[in-house]
Amino acid sequence: MRERLCPVCGVSLVAQTYLGVTVDVCPTCAGIWFDADELNRLYQMDPLIFPTIEQRYQPVVERYDPPWERLCPVCREPLYQYNYLYTSTIELDGCDRCGGVWVDHGELAKMEQVLRDAKVAELPPEARAQVEIAKAEFEHQERMDKLEFWQGLFTFLRTRPRFPI
Ligand SMILES: [Zn+2]
Ligand SMILES: [Zn+2]
Repeated sequence: MRERLCPVCGVSLVAQTYLGVTVDVCPTCAGIWFDADELNRLYQMDPLIFPTIEQRYQPVVERYDPPWERLCPVCREPLYQYNYLYTSTIELDGCDRCGGVWVDHGELAKMEQVLRDAKVAELPPEARAQVEIAKAEFEHQERMDKLEFWQGLFTFLRTRPRFPI
């Protein structure tokens, strides 16, 4: 298998295994590459593992945007940028060919914040419905809320629009 390089830093990603699923973490910027089905598989096994994964790594450099095009670590094709929840300011990078997703360090936490603070009226209908579900569940028991929250989050990741709005 070809070496996987960080789309941001260009250094080799380090494979890390959680619950039998191997993700690729950048030792420099602490971004994480998820292959097409990895977010879904991890979620199904433990919806609460994602904050844990992100908190485990800290970037050793200040976050920056490279002057070069971000390339898929697997296909070496340019990644396309899209906004999480369609209208949020959180930008994720996806690969059209392999379906993988690059998540910069801190973005998982920001995504959680966006869902919690979402001004529902400002969201497009397709996003609003998911947030309403998450919020309704939040008013019930905590564990169930967290499950619903992560379910909503990764539903969006899996159904990301092909073109940023
Ligand atoms: Zn990096
Ligand atoms: Zn790819």
